[in-house]
Amino acid sequence: MTKTLVSIALWALGGWLLGAWLGAATGWAVFALGLLAMVLASGLQLSRIARWVRNIDDPPPPSIGPWDEVLAPIYRKLKQNRLDLQERSRNFQRALLAAEALPDGALTLAPDKSLLWCNQTAADHLGLDQGQDRGHSILNIIRAPEFARYARQDSWDKPLILHLNRGGQTRTLMLHLAPYGVGQFLMVTRDITQIERLENTRKDFVANVSHEMRTPLTVLSGFVETLLDLPEEAISAEQRRHYLELMAQQAHNMQALVADLLTLSSLETTPNGPGTPVPVPALIRTALTQCQALSKGQHRFEVRVDDTLQVIGQDSELSSALSNLLTNAVRYTPAGGTITVTWERRPDGGARYQVRDTGIGIAPDDIPRLTERFFRVDRGRSRATGGTGLGLAITKHVVLRHQAALDIASTPGAGSAFSIVFPAARVGAAAVRAADPEGHAA
Ligand code: ADP
Repeated sequence: MTKTLVSIALWALGGWLLGAWLGAATGWAVFALGLLAMVLASGLQLSRIARWVRNIDDPPPPSIGPWDEVLAPIYRKLKQNRLDLQERSRNFQRALLAAEALPDGALTLAPDKSLLWCNQTAADHLGLDQGQDRGHSILNIIRAPEFARYARQDSWDKPLILHLNRGGQTRTLMLHLAPYGVGQFLMVTRDITQIERLENTRKDFVANVSHEMRTPLTVLSGFVETLLDLPEEAISAEQRRHYLELMAQQAHNMQALVADLLTLSSLETTPNGPGTPVPVPALIRTALTQCQALSKGQHRFEVRVDDTLQVIGQDSELSSALSNLLTNAVRYTPAGGTITVTWERRPDGGARYQVRDTGIGIAPDDIPRLTERFFRVDRGRSRATGGTGLGLAITKHVVLRHQAALDIASTPGAGSAFSIVFPAARVGAAAVRAADPEGHAA
């Protein structure tokens, strides 16, 4: 305002001086021209400002005099607002990225429980389509009745465990709702399928171990009570001996079970180290000696062992895997059968240990289940021959820890072939070549 008044005053002064010199008419004319120039300049500036307001992100038009006083603070404020907005948008993007990176699913719901936003994990867990489902009630999206009951609660102290079937697969999700903001809700989802599976396996395992222990313990305590209750003369020395033999057998079964359980536990807890060169041929021969004792001359053994082949691994683990396949062959092959043991190099540089028998064989449906803990095709036969049902589970564990593969081929009534195939990276050659690399029949 001051600048405008000063400009008018200057034009008036100019007009008055010229009027005194060149006459009053000239003075008034100059004053009028000055005012006209000021009005035109203002009009021009106004039209520039009008143009700028339409493209407010552009720099403001150049201004002089009074216009500068008006435009400069507006422009400074606009610039500051723009910077604040950019900062807020960056913070929002960071928060969104953090929510996306959450290992859990997260989704926000409006007061009417319609979907506002969800991260990708929540979309995967619940099968949401961010575009289509936004704005729809979560009760219509997750249609399980137990979820409807949970979502309608007033407060949520505990999470809900929900089993959802999607694409033929059942997933177990843990959902937790919490109020936030003004009447809105946050829901966190976590996939606990694997945890639940492990928990079930653990429960089954404990139940199985208890069951396995109960049978020999019942038999043992039964005989102990019989021997305690019966008067000395009521039982012959021969009968007493028979009872004691049966008790010893049960005690032996329990010992074998505990030994296998300890082996499994150590396989699960011991870190898998790089290993050392293991003389597999020597391990095979030790296992063979034990199996021939078990066979009591009832089976024919054919052995083809490459004495130059060794494996990098854990000695004791490999020893238990190799001997387990051999003992099984003896236990599941009727007298008169043949057991063939091969340890040979493969064309790809790997090595194969194979135990082939002419025993009872295994039905195709049972083959995939053989390495499950406590799975037996014939429980009675396994127990009668001192089996724990854990041998192949241990073998499979050892095989995996050596990056090897366990192959099982079998024909019921004709026999089975169990092979452990080691990759080339695990196979080494022994320094000393044996005298009889072609093998021999024992
Ligand atoms: P087990 O102590 O019962 O032998 P394993 O885990 O070693 O336990 O074997 C699991 C089951 O696999 C056995 O109970 C048996 O039914 C079957 N099996 C294993 N080896 C053979 C084999 N060579 N021939 C036939 N069946 C076998």
